[in-house]
Amino acid sequence: MIKTVGILGAGQLARMLAQAGQRLGLDFVFLDPAKNACAAEFGDHICAAWDDEEALKQLGQRCDVVTFDFENVPEASASLIESLCPVYPPPTALFKSQDRLREKAMMRDLGIPLAPFHAVSSRPDLAGAVENIGLPCVLKTRRFGYDGKGQSVLRFQEDMERAWQQFGDSDLVCEGFVSFQAECSIIAARGGDGQTVFWPLTRNLHRGGILSISMAPVFDQHVQDRAQALVRKLLDHLDYIGVITLELFIKDGELLANEFAPRVHNSGHWSIDGAATSQFENHLRAICGLPLGETAITSHAMMFNLLGEMPPYFAQSVDDKHPIPGLHWHDYHKTPRDGRKIGHVTLTAESEAQLMARASELAARLGVAAELDLEAVLRDAGV
Ligand code: AMP
Repeated sequence: MIKTVGILGAGQLARMLAQAGQRLGLDFVFLDPAKNACAAEFGDHICAAWDDEEALKQLGQRCDVVTFDFENVPEASASLIESLCPVYPPPTALFKSQDRLREKAMMRDLGIPLAPFHAVSSRPDLAGAVENIGLPCVLKTRRFGYDGKGQSVLRFQEDMERAWQQFGDSDLVCEGFVSFQAECSIIAARGGDGQTVFWPLTRNLHRGGILSISMAPVFDQHVQDRAQALVRKLLDHLDYIGVITLELFIKDGELLANEFAPRVHNSGHWSIDGAATSQFENHLRAICGLPLGETAITSHAMMFNLLGEMPPYFAQSVDDKHPIPGLHWHDYHKTPRDGRKIGHVTLTAESEAQLMARASELAARLGVAAELDLEAVLRDAGV
């Protein structure tokens, strides 16, 4: 019987895992070098570097199972903990996702469709990749890229030199630019006994490379089935335990993989308020050997990411005489900083039409109506 869960990382994902875990009677120990890590108030916090052997040993010895809330866990740290207690999802999934080239090669070998890609480790490699793939294309660092960081779109020959100056000292991958009709993600959970559940395919809108809005459900069953078949290839190959997310582009009726995350994902936050069981609860259930919960929607849901600082309407909504129904605020209690993910708000409704009406109202009250193209979540994705 698992009682204590360790988490490498104590950011908002760890915080929401711990919130879900409290209801399962679990205790948490976090390892994170940040002094004021936002999950820390939900358990014990070992404040130490990711490669601090004593701290890692302490985590492994105190916990029944260890998981992680971010991808850049050093390989040696995961191995050290694994010598003391189980680590889920399997660290091989973590290592593949840490390197875009290895990740893409694995997905290609599994028959998961992707944009064409080439490894780039020299200036001539880059010229060759651009020649092969054609313009536009995207140059990305193989490691440590997230939320659109560590990447550059090349539209003209001249862009090559600029991008090389910017990223040439890292290992790189160059991939075809996908002029997609829509972006979406499929989130699945798999238990140690192979039981697998999927949440409805979520449609995602990004602004400046950062997730802005997620909405579910949006797609028909046949698209759902296709997305599930793709993520199942990863789950089976990796003998996976826990929650996984596969980000997909939809282009001309095709689903193309962008990347996978071996963890709970920002595009699944709506499941806290809109599904019978959230991605956080099912991740814990999977890694603790508990039966997985039902993933059916309990309402239509749209999540708005909140960046920088909590908006004035967050405080005002408490005594709003005409509140928007179905509004669920999540404040991560992080120090405000420009562009930082500090919370999210999920709207729930009984129908798509009701959800869109509430979303327009919320966008107006958040003061983002002019810059948010809300209708884009319903625009024909061509599938
Ligand atoms: P990533 O860090 O790879 O998840 O990229 C962040 C966002 O950049 C994606 O969600 C897309 O909106 C955009 N993007 C990334 N790769 C491509 C691509 N090959 N073609 C078009 N857009 C892309």
